[in-house]
Amino acid sequence: MTNVAEIYEEMTYGPAPEDASYVRDWLTRHGQGFGFFIDGEWIKPKDAAQTLDSFNPFTEEKLATISIAGAADVDDAVSAAAAAYPKWSAKSGHERARVLYALARLLQKNSRFLAVLETLDNGKPIRETRDIDVPLAARHFYHHAGWAQVLAQEFPGHEPLGVVAQVIPWNFPLLMLAWKVAPAIAAGNCVVLKPAEYTSLTALYFAELADEAGVPPGVINIITGAGQTGALLTEHAGVAKVAFTGSTEVGRTIRQKTAGSGKKLTLELGGKSPFIVFEDADLDSAVEGLVDAIWFNQGEVCCAGSRLLVEEGIAEQLIAKIKARLEKFRLGDPLDKAIDMGAIVDPVQLTRIRTLVRQSVEEGAEKWQPAIPCPDTGSFYPPTLLTNVAPGNTAVLQEIFGPVLTVMSFRTLSEAAALANNTAYGLAASVWSENINRALEIAGHIKAGVVWVNTTNQFDAACGFGGYRESGFGREGGREGMFEYLKLKDEWMTQNAAVLPSRTNSPIPTRHMQGIDRTHKNYIGGKQKRADGGNTLVITAHDGGVAERVGKGNRKDIRDAVEAAFKAAVWGTAHAHTRAQILYFMAENLSVRAKEFQSRLKDLTGVSSRMAKKEVACAISRLFSAAAWADKFDGLVHAPPVRNISLAINEPLGVLAIVCPDTLPLLSFISLLAPAMAMGNRCVIVPSQRYPLPATDFYQILETSDVPAGIVNIVTGARDELAPVLAGHVQVDGLWFHGTAQGSRDVERLSATNLKRTWVNNGWARDWFNPAKGEGRQFLREATQVKNIWLPYQD
Ligand code: NDP
Repeated sequence: MTNVAEIYEEMTYGPAPEDASYVRDWLTRHGQGFGFFIDGEWIKPKDAAQTLDSFNPFTEEKLATISIAGAADVDDAVSAAAAAYPKWSAKSGHERARVLYALARLLQKNSRFLAVLETLDNGKPIRETRDIDVPLAARHFYHHAGWAQVLAQEFPGHEPLGVVAQVIPWNFPLLMLAWKVAPAIAAGNCVVLKPAEYTSLTALYFAELADEAGVPPGVINIITGAGQTGALLTEHAGVAKVAFTGSTEVGRTIRQKTAGSGKKLTLELGGKSPFIVFEDADLDSAVEGLVDAIWFNQGEVCCAGSRLLVEEGIAEQLIAKIKARLEKFRLGDPLDKAIDMGAIVDPVQLTRIRTLVRQSVEEGAEKWQPAIPCPDTGSFYPPTLLTNVAPGNTAVLQEIFGPVLTVMSFRTLSEAAALANNTAYGLAASVWSENINRALEIAGHIKAGVVWVNTTNQFDAACGFGGYRESGFGREGGREGMFEYLKLKDEWMTQNAAVLPSRTNSPIPTRHMQGIDRTHKNYIGGKQKRADGGNTLVITAHDGGVAERVGKGNRKDIRDAVEAAFKAAVWGTAHAHTRAQILYFMAENLSVRAKEFQSRLKDLTGVSSRMAKKEVACAISRLFSAAAWADKFDGLVHAPPVRNISLAINEPLGVLAIVCPDTLPLLSFISLLAPAMAMGNRCVIVPSQRYPLPATDFYQILETSDVPAGIVNIVTGARDELAPVLAGHVQVDGLWFHGTAQGSRDVERLSATNLKRTWVNNGWARDWFNPAKGEGRQFLREATQVKNIWLPYQD
């Protein structure tokens, strides 16, 4: 036996196991088996034969039998939530705040129990569940108790959505539950949550806490099962919103399946986040940062820093330091307080990691793993470095969800930014440099929802978390996260009024336009361009005569327009003041030509002089509003409870496609275009199909108002032919659609290609004259995505 003197000499770790007996007692009390928590009660599954087993990934022992919810069980849970909704949503903010506060307190009071249970079920180290998962989950309920309290003042004119379906993954089971449940119920919704099949236990324990906290029956319902249960839940007709965290593949399926249903959707998906180290970084800190970035939680983290990008001059030195650190790594019993990395959640995931690493090596990567002991039981995978990887290597492109780091070097900041953005994802990034200018410069270039400077994997309930690009859309946490669980009251007027019956195909024109015959072309890259197919559409005036012709845009015109918009990226970085000036200039020029536009509207739509005047005046005012907002829709500075500040910046989506309604063709066109431009987006806009001429007349306003080429691209033609092309185009980052319910459905379904953000009308019409409905913060929010930049800070 080793004595104390020898221990001082060897400095070896002794075992430091956490006691799990009381958690095992709890499992025994439940007979190692669970039903569902529906309407405040434990319910047996309709089909008791449908079960799955939950295992301890370290010991491989069975922990519990988990029931699988079938269609009837899902129905019961959704019905219970729907029944609870009227009362829960009618409660005062304070009443709801008290319940959330009670939940926060109970999470704290049961923190050790929850940490042990999570570690047993997931295989992650107790050090992490104790210090990260559980405290962050409690913090989420505290923070959202606050939002419930101030909801009426801070979100005027908004209301909850109804029943929310929530599906979460296995990597942070309790924390993801907190991220989903807290904002949903704070806003007044009722939820049905399905945890992942590997890790249902903390959600089931949470159900008991919900009961104890006085959550009314039906407000929180927990059902268990595998992917099929998730599908039944997310596709259930009684659900008003789906919030999903998991793989991009399943996220894409959910986007397709919920298309056209009117369900609000947030997707928090995969990532392939860069970890960028400049040569002036504090390398020892960067190495510890890397440990937290990719070896935290066994690398099973959506925002894991899985791609190391290192400045060439220090690459060798940094790799040597990483290797030295990993040689001291400790894999082992997750309940041991002194281990670095626990077990992979399940043998299936272990196989996936092995397969992807093998493939990467076959493609030329060099694999390095430390010579450290690995337990004989359980699904363990050692920390792994893959060097000599090409940008197209599988391990560089695909989310491995394991402790595997690829290493690439760069020479310049712009090369680092290009490599960082060379991914379909955009969840997070970590930047290491002692030069704040350099760190902030690259933070601005990176397309990701979070950028950590000289730190990594920091989270806080006040700082919205979520992705760009194929990492999904929507944010969890903060003010922006609350909007995901609310809607504007009376946002829409009447259904099927956004599109008027088409009159563009009138075969026998009864009247010809006075003056010179004219065909309005498309407007692409600052130039008028004939429609590619050489086809035109006849636009009839209100009396049935031919007004003029417009180009009949096709797929090729859309591609050209998107390319022009894509190249005009400079608009996104132009100063807000510059954008405002240009919008004011547009208003000025429209004002000069107001009479022309009025007579166009009268002739085309048949409105009275008074209404035409009103529409033009309102369009001018809307340009003023957008100009006003350009430099006022500011971000926020958060002060999370760590030594950081987080700058929440509203960034443009990028290339934003807009498909306009027929109603009030000038006003709706301007109401959509102006805020999109104000926020720095480059637009491809399809004007009203029936009344496109006010938009094509508008070229001249654009040309005389210093609007740079490529910022506004206009393609005329058939809405339902052009919108699907935009929806499926991978270079389009967002799409606003005003058309039929079927058109909205197609747009949402096709947007799954690159998971672009969509905002569709589902066939409903908007009151464009009403400033509360036709302009303002909702439009600005839809035109932007929040990037949180975390900076070291200590006051
Ligand atoms: P999934 O995306 O399959 O699972 C996430 C959640 O969705 C689970 O609760 C799952 O159920 C459920 N689910 C599965 N299919 C459907 C469906 N068709 N409709 C609705 N819900 C569904 O991730 P996996 O667990 O299979 O992991 C696979 C890979 O996904 C990982 O290797 C990793 O790369 C990535 N991943 C990413 C995460 C992230 O946060 N970005 C989190 C987890 C995984 P169940 O687990 O019970 O089958």
